[in-house]
Amino acid sequence: MTPSRHLLRTLAFAVLYLLATLAGRLTIMDGTNLSLVWPAAGVAAVWFAVQGGSRRIAYDALGLSIITMLVNVLTGAPAALAGVFVLANLVQAGLFAYLIRRWLPSLWGAGGDEQITRSWQLWRLVAITALATLAGVLVGPTGMWLLNGEYSPTAAAVWIARNSAGTLLVGTALLRLGALRRKGGPCPVRVALRGAVVEGTVLIAVSAVAYVGVFTLAHGLPLAFVLLVMTVWAGSRMSTTFVILHALAFGAASVAFTLIGDGPFAAIESNPLRALVSQLFVAVIAVIGLALALGRDERVALQLSADEQTRIFASVIDAMGEGLAVIDADGGMLLRNPAGARLLGVAPISGDKMASTTHYGLSHTDGTPIAPGELPFQRALATGSSHAMDLLVRNTALPEGRILAVRATPLPLEVAGRAYAVSTFSDVTADRRHRDELAAFAGVVAHDLSNPLTTVEGWSSEVADELGDDAGLPADGIRRIQRAAARMRNLINDLLAYATARDNALTPGTVDLTDLTTDIVAGWADRAESTGTPPPRVTIGELPHVHADPAQVRQLLDNLIGNAIKYTATDLIPTITVTATAGAGDVRVTVADNGIGIPPGQHVAVFDNFHRAHREAGYAGTGLGLPICKRIVERHGGRILAEDNPGGTGSAFTFTLPAADTPSAARLKL
Ligand code: ADP
Repeated sequence: MTPSRHLLRTLAFAVLYLLATLAGRLTIMDGTNLSLVWPAAGVAAVWFAVQGGSRRIAYDALGLSIITMLVNVLTGAPAALAGVFVLANLVQAGLFAYLIRRWLPSLWGAGGDEQITRSWQLWRLVAITALATLAGVLVGPTGMWLLNGEYSPTAAAVWIARNSAGTLLVGTALLRLGALRRKGGPCPVRVALRGAVVEGTVLIAVSAVAYVGVFTLAHGLPLAFVLLVMTVWAGSRMSTTFVILHALAFGAASVAFTLIGDGPFAAIESNPLRALVSQLFVAVIAVIGLALALGRDERVALQLSADEQTRIFASVIDAMGEGLAVIDADGGMLLRNPAGARLLGVAPISGDKMASTTHYGLSHTDGTPIAPGELPFQRALATGSSHAMDLLVRNTALPEGRILAVRATPLPLEVAGRAYAVSTFSDVTADRRHRDELAAFAGVVAHDLSNPLTTVEGWSSEVADELGDDAGLPADGIRRIQRAAARMRNLINDLLAYATARDNALTPGTVDLTDLTTDIVAGWADRAESTGTPPPRVTIGELPHVHADPAQVRQLLDNLIGNAIKYTATDLIPTITVTATAGAGDVRVTVADNGIGIPPGQHVAVFDNFHRAHREAGYAGTGLGLPICKRIVERHGGRILAEDNPGGTGSAFTFTLPAADTPSAARLKL
């Protein structure tokens, strides 16, 4: 700040302080040198706080000292006593400035540019005021005692009450008006009335009548407490600025009435006690009014930020390209976005209920109808885990049909005592058609390559037999042809299995998983024996029956057990456990191994077509086994996932299938 600005502000505060000191000295009580009010305490506190950031604060201290000295001496105080008052005022204002700049630095006047807006700021201000006043009281009445030889505890109490009330009321008013002025905003009176001009005027009028009634009518009753109603009215309904000005004006009025001998406080005989009670009254109305107003402002601010968040949340959901709906088990909709309605083509029948699948024209992608309870949100709610499914939508608005990828996940929290699932869906028509075409093409190619490959295999085996165990180029070449043909056979077999898993109609039935797994394991043991490797050690737990296509479940388990054997370090005997637990309508089967495990970050990718995580390690394969498994499981409405084996090294693959003889089995579209 420039020196001239600092000087100007010092002058402005000095004038204000002078007026406040004069006003205070005008209220000296008979037979004492104590003023009834001390508004100068508030002015000095804010003066020092505002200028406290500057190194030229010494000028302010000098100004304050000269004014205090002059006014006191001119109004009849002995010079020595005036000196004590100077010291007390300096200590009090100095400590206030120091503490407010430390504890409330964001406020205007304390280094920042905010107004008091929070209750905690008020309580801090009250604490700062109390500490500063206590420091002042250690100097003031003690100095008086040193000079007069007598210490008056009542005078000390009056000092505390008077200076606290002065600091709180005048101080908060100055801090607020300063902050308003600094922001260059509208006039403080307009801010104070904040659109409530009529109510503000009525409140002022009623307060005026009430104060005049309580203080001037000769009823002789201590009715001051009635006036709290005005403060509560102001605090709960009007702006904080209004509340401060209201408390200031009517606090001053109550002091003025007391001074001229009117009202409930004037009836108190003792001068100091009269001052004490009237100042306590002023301090109490100031604190109650401010606490109410700030508490209300906080609630409004919270409400506003909650509203703001709701608006942001709603606009994000509305702007989403994916459809989103939050639905309960009966189809009751808690929320849905416009994209949801757009993707379904037709408008919902009723605003808050999921319409029937026939209304939207929903079916499985192959056109078969959806069984009751089979939609992903219904399954998610029934099983407590997320479910995904492709659905076909065909209706008057979408005669060509549209494929939606739908995923539903149960919400972890209930809303008003109801469980909901959040369903997201997006248009995957182009993607799925493209994928289907490619898959169909791969199936045809695999089929057509099978015959020529059989010829290659047959003739190379003939030639190999002819050549016997010969070493040398022709025999070696034939062995290479045979190995290449075997790899090609694997690929063709996997492609054909993939096409079968994708497209072949399922023939469901009850499958005894224990029998099936035992049979598959026996097959792998035979294969190990024929290649001279140790057979795998397989532990088969108690496996419940499932309702599924037996051929596809065989393919699924065969792939998983085959992988568990294949992806095991060469010096280890593959050790595998197949266990199952029965869930809500589903059976959850886990195949765990002691193999080389899946590299971190690839547990989802291994289910992608042709993804191979151990290509470099020399393990043969096509990268189609797990996609086949995924397809089989999903066609049965289940899920499959890969994890690290929680029981040790290796991996664990877990899939779900419908349990036999349960409603979910009956629902299964097969
Ligand atoms: P592949 O024909 O290569 O075995 P899959 O689709 O069956 O193809 O598996 C994909 C990849 O997942 C494999 O290449 C392998 O890296 C990894 N994988 C599958 N099963 C296991 C397992 N039991 N242990 C470790 N890695 C596995």
